[in-house]
Parts: sequence; C-alpha cells; structure tokens
Amino acid sequence: MTDANRYDAVVIGGGLGGLTAGARLAKEGRRVLLVEQHSVPGGYATTFRRKQFTMEVALHEIDGLDGGDPKRKVFEELGVFDAVEFVRVPEFYRVVLEGSEIVVPDDARRAIAVLTERFPEEAAGIKKFFRVIGGIRDEISRLPSAPWLTRLLLPVFPFLYPRLVFNAGKTLGNFLDRATKNRELKLILAANVGYYHDDPYSLSLPFFSAAQAGFFGGGGHYVKGGSQKLSDHLAEAIRARGGEVLLKHRVSAILTQHGKAVGVRYESTRGKAGETHEVFARVVIANAAVPQVASLLPDRERLILEKEIRGLSESCSALCVYLGFDRPIKELGNRCYSTIVHGEGVRDLADLAGNFRADYSKRGFVFADYSQIDSGLAPEGKSVGAIVCLDHISNWEKLGEREYEEKKGEAARALIERLDRMIPGIKGSIEHCEVGTPRTMRRYTSNSAGAIYGYAQTPRQSGHKRLQSKSPIPNLFFASAWSNPGGGFTGAILGGWFGAREAGRAL
Ligand SMILES: Cc1cc2nc3c(=O)[nH]c(=O)nc-3n(C[C@H](O)[C@H](O)[C@H](O)COP(=O)(O)OP(=O)(O)OC[C@H]3O[C@@H](n4cnc5c(N)ncnc54)[C@H](O)[C@@H]3O)c2cc1C
Repeated sequence: MTDANRYDAVVIGGGLGGLTAGARLAKEGRRVLLVEQHSVPGGYATTFRRKQFTMEVALHEIDGLDGGDPKRKVFEELGVFDAVEFVRVPEFYRVVLEGSEIVVPDDARRAIAVLTERFPEEAAGIKKFFRVIGGIRDEISRLPSAPWLTRLLLPVFPFLYPRLVFNAGKTLGNFLDRATKNRELKLILAANVGYYHDDPYSLSLPFFSAAQAGFFGGGGHYVKGGSQKLSDHLAEAIRARGGEVLLKHRVSAILTQHGKAVGVRYESTRGKAGETHEVFARVVIANAAVPQVASLLPDRERLILEKEIRGLSESCSALCVYLGFDRPIKELGNRCYSTIVHGEGVRDLADLAGNFRADYSKRGFVFADYSQIDSGLAPEGKSVGAIVCLDHISNWEKLGEREYEEKKGEAARALIERLDRMIPGIKGSIEHCEVGTPRTMRRYTSNSAGAIYGYAQTPRQSGHKRLQSKSPIPNLFFASAWSNPGGGFTGAILGGWFGAREAGRAL
C-alpha cells in the first residue's frame, strides 16, 4: 500500500449525498476520494444539453432556505451561497382538479388566507393542518444531534417533542381525514404528495411535515442555471481542499479486512474492461443505493447488511418528459411555475395511489414551467419545461427495445395532448422533446428500481426507524436518499452531512 492509494475516506457515488459528505470531510482536513461512474457529478442533481437548451434532470423546487432550515448551515459551511444563486419560485403550486383550480402560495399565512376564503366552513381544519405540520418541523429542528444526548433525553421525549412523538406512526392520509371531511380541500393540501411518495395513506406524516412546512416557511427555490451548478460547486469544494473527484469510474467491490470496510475496487467505465484499481481508506461512505452496496460487499458482510435491509421497500420512480420550447411558455398565458394536475377520476385522497399507476392519458402529473423564473436554462426567446409523473419500474421492464421506444412515445404524446388542452398552443411550440423513464433513472444512477427517494417514506421506514448513516459493517457509512433522513434534495444533502459526521467520529 502506498500513500497514493491511501485515503481517510472513499465515497462511492457523487449524488448530492456523496458530494456533501465528501465536501464536509475535505473541509475538516480529511483526505477524500470520491468515485462517480457518470461523466458529471450530481446523480439526479444534474443537467444535460440539447440544442440550445439546458435540460434539468430532476429539480423543480428545493424547500426552505429560511432560518428554520438545517440545510442553511450546511450551505454556509460549504460556501454554497457564495457560488450558487437560488431563485425563489413565485408560488408553491397551482392545483388543477376536475372542475376547479387554485393557486397555493408558498407562505403559511397567505396559504391559510387563500384556503379559508375558498373553504370558509373548513377554517378550523385548515389552521390545524398548518399548526401541526409547522409544529412538527419546529420540533425536528430542535432534536439533539449527539447520540448520547438523545439517549439521555429519551424518557422525556414526549414532553419535549409532543407533536413528533404523537404523530410518529401516523400517515398524511389519516391526519387529513381527521382534520377535514372536505375531499377537495384534502386533494389540495396533499396535491404535491408526489414530491415525497406515491400514496398519502402510507406517507409518514412527520417526514411530509418537515419538508412541506419548509416550503411554507421559506418557499420553493430553483438553482439558477440548473442543479448541475450546485453539484459542480460541491465537487469543487472537495477538490479545493485537496480531495479527488474521479468521474467515469465505477466501484465494483468494497474491500474488507476482519469484517471491517477498508477500501474499494474500481474500474473505468470508458477504459479497458477488466482493468481494476484498489484504494484503501479508514472509512468508506456509500452514496450509491443501499441494495447495491450490499452486492458490492464480500459474502459475509453482504449477509449482515442484507439482514438489516430485508423487507424494506424502495420508493416510486418517475417518468419525465423534458421539453425545449421556441418561446417562453408564459407568453401562451401559463401563469404558474408548478402546475399539479390531478388525474382523471381522482375525487378523493384514496384515489391517488391507484391513479399513479393509471394509463398516461389519465395519470396525474406536474408541469414545471421554467420560463416563469430567471432559470438560466434557455437563451432569450426560448424556454424549458418538464412534465413529470410518478411511475414504477415494473411498468417498463420486460419490453424489447422497439416496444420500449414506442411506449415512451405514446406516454409523451398522451401527456403533451393533455398539457395542450390546458395551455393551448404549447404542443406547437415544442422544439425538443425527450423522455426519461424509470429505466433511464436506474441506468444513470444505479438506483434500484429507478427509485428517486431511496427507501419509501412509510412510518416504519422513516424518522428514528429509518436506516441510519452508520451501517452494521464497521467503517462503512451511508450518505444518500436511502438513509436518514431520506430523499429529495434536502434529504440527500442532510444524509450526506450526517453520514460524514458519523464517519468523522470513526476517523
Ligand atoms: C424526475 C425527478 C424529479 C425530482 N424533483 C425533485 C425536486 O423538485 N425537489 C427535490 O428536492 N427532489 C427532487 N427529486 C429527488 C432528488 O433528486 C433525489 O432524491 C436526490 O437527488 C437523491 O440524491 P442521492 O444523494 O441519494 O444520490 P443519487 O442522485 O441517487 O446519485 C447516486 C450517485 O451514485 C452514483 N453511483 C451509484 N453506484 C455507483 C458505483 N458503483 N460507483 C460509482 N458511482 C456510483 C450514481 O452514478 C449517482 O451519481 C427528483 C428526482 C427525479 C428523478
């Protein structure tokens, strides 16, 4: 072993979790190597160029960035605010239901006013919704970070964190059913459930509350120029502190000695097949999907990790229609940045989960119109948009190449037709159209089942029950949407921050 192939930390994967973990450890003076299989860092937090358009792979909006957002400290520590510009989006979302629509502001006070004006008889339920989700977010932000303090305070948790403890096992659906009987109101309050999960009746209420109250506390933001700017900055933060970011290389094995993780084997994704390299480190941090991490381990350690994750279910995936337009779409009369369209036949919260598996001519979707903000994604006079709906890999597997291409075309046509009925003329303004399916998500990120939020945020896989950053294999840590606290930009960034904190304790 030479100094050249010995590190304090090796990070497998350069999604937001891996980049944040690497940047934190590099800042703390650790020697870091991050290995990423793709040609750019970021995982889902990337962009790609088509003609004159910069296409955003994933990001519609990041929650928070207000004083109650723990991510603020992370961004301050890593110099993100000095290099990356966040553009506040004009509203939280517009919801289109069968026969009605409403724009929900991104500030709790204004949202309560708008909703109460529309549903005056539901004023108490509306207030309760905001009180509970805001209270949960507040309590989460006050949780102790040191494990010893958590253990010490455990007996008095119900007094210190009553909302969190009382709602720990609850789902969004059950909570909304108790808060109001009005079906339309429930569909409005849970309209963006797809930002977190595919069924309100199995979505953890505390997880939903932390993120949703973040949007109502600090608004939604987009990264000017695309989420790649954030990922590039974090990669640069590693390099600037002497760390290395090795792109176009895939980790093919985690090396262990006496049951402990001691390094990784990797190979080029472009070079000669079979040519591998080994590096050694005091800790290994996995940003790659946890089920994949198990497959990278030798048999003995693989069985230990598999036992820990047996029975956990992964989150949904997504279908994305990336669109480049010959004009700013706001010129066609579209007024909102995020428009959420509930699917055909959705009249109750209980209809949502089934609808997220319906035909694309009926399935609910969200349309992000980046022309509503100074996104920096298209030249003057043009714009970029995306239609996203939740999806599942089972819908796309076992298709031959021709069938697969045909199905992609059919899905895009069905969704674009529906968008054109809402925004007449939009179809004729399309200059570029490309479809990403759950298979695409899996191919580019190696996330099992093309999952976009790691393990699903059900009550039994959320909060203190979620897979923690410390793995059962000594010196192996997790830092991704799959571990605590979970998916989304915020979840993955905090997962990276916590993963590095745990790993730092072992250094
Ligand atoms: C269409 C879509 C829309 C979304 N919209 C939003 C949104 O508006 N707001 C929001 O907050 N979140 C959104 N998300 C979710 C969010 O993007 C993800 O939850 C988050 O980015 C996951 O980050 P991660 O750190 O877990 O890593 P990932 O992004 O999953 O990246 C993992 C990385 O590891 C690399 N890797 C895997 N295996 C190996 C290996 N063996 N060797 C080397 N490298 C490896 C992969 O190439 C990848 O770069 C969206 C996601 C999608 C797909």
